[in-house]
Amino acid sequence: MSENVYECNSCLYKTPRRTNANRHITLIHNGIAIALNKKTGKLSSQKPITNHKSEVDLETQIIYDIFNDIVTSFERLEFLVRFFPEQMRVNFLSDTLIESLLNTEPHKVINEKIKTIQNEIPIVKLSNYISARKKLELPVAIVFLKELVVNSPAYEFRKAQKEKKYQLKV
Ligand SMILES: [Zn+2]
Repeated sequence: MSENVYECNSCLYKTPRRTNANRHITLIHNGIAIALNKKTGKLSSQKPITNHKSEVDLETQIIYDIFNDIVTSFERLEFLVRFFPEQMRVNFLSDTLIESLLNTEPHKVINEKIKTIQNEIPIVKLSNYISARKKLELPVAIVFLKELVVNSPAYEFRKAQKEKKYQLKV
């Protein structure tokens, strides 16, 4: 039996056949996903590699340009998620990198991620302590901490302040 070497990055689909992988990407994900050959590192839909010297140079230059373009944003994101547990951090960064490279302007995808994740960073950082102390999975610790805050006097106090401000404006 042949091995399922092609793996979709967007779902759990696996197949030994390149043609099946390409059909899956087109039909299921509208072409916005990749199927990776785990043995070779190549994509199921990879363009044939060019042989002419000038085209090879151009190809290399474009590859360098794209990575140079995303590296600053990516490092910013890396810094932000440094408190994530190792596996979670690696999965998140790796998935974001692939998602960004499926886009016309990869750095914009990464910058969007930064915007959405920025507010979550303090709670994730602090939840690590709860997770270790109470032997909870991190996502559970995050929920626990959010619940705790919603029911805290600090929350009531802030809510009252915000409502007062809102009433003054109206
Ligand atoms: Zn898929």
